[in-house]
Amino acid sequence: MAVMKILVYGDPVLRKVAEPVTDFGPNLEQIAADMLETMEKGDGIGLAAPQVGLSIRFLVIGLPVEEEGVRKMITLTLANPEIVAESEELATCEEGCLSLPEINIQVERPEAVTVNYQDLQGNPQVLEADDMLAVVVQHEMDHLDGVLITDYLPMLQRTMMRSKLKRLSEEHASSTQG
Ligand SMILES: [Zn+2]
Repeated sequence: MAVMKILVYGDPVLRKVAEPVTDFGPNLEQIAADMLETMEKGDGIGLAAPQVGLSIRFLVIGLPVEEEGVRKMITLTLANPEIVAESEELATCEEGCLSLPEINIQVERPEAVTVNYQDLQGNPQVLEADDMLAVVVQHEMDHLDGVLITDYLPMLQRTMMRSKLKRLSEEHASSTQG
């Protein structure tokens, strides 16, 4: 297993529409293991493949939950996810992103979604997500279409955040040279 480099705002890969996953099995298992390790190291609860420079429709989730007083971890790996149903009810949550350090943005999304996807072997699966899991899966799926949480900001706030974002992408550019 290896920790991968997380791309930061300003990297063009984050803005690309990712390609469908076609290579299942050992290769994808390895990518999933590396991404989960990278996500945990970054204290994230989800990570999409474009964030580590792989422009494929794949994401991982590691969400701590508490059920009847017992803490456990939901770990999911989704290839080619597609939302097939969503609730009319919306929920707003403050979201962060490993590719946008130190930025938190209120994002409104459907409270629950049904997602069709393929597992690491390419078998079709269905995920019924609500609450925090619904937030994470929709956030990570946005990455597969090149969408970032800053895109949800109203125009005025986006303008106000422009200098902060510019600084982020400049810091990133200089750190890759150095
Ligand atoms: Zn993100």
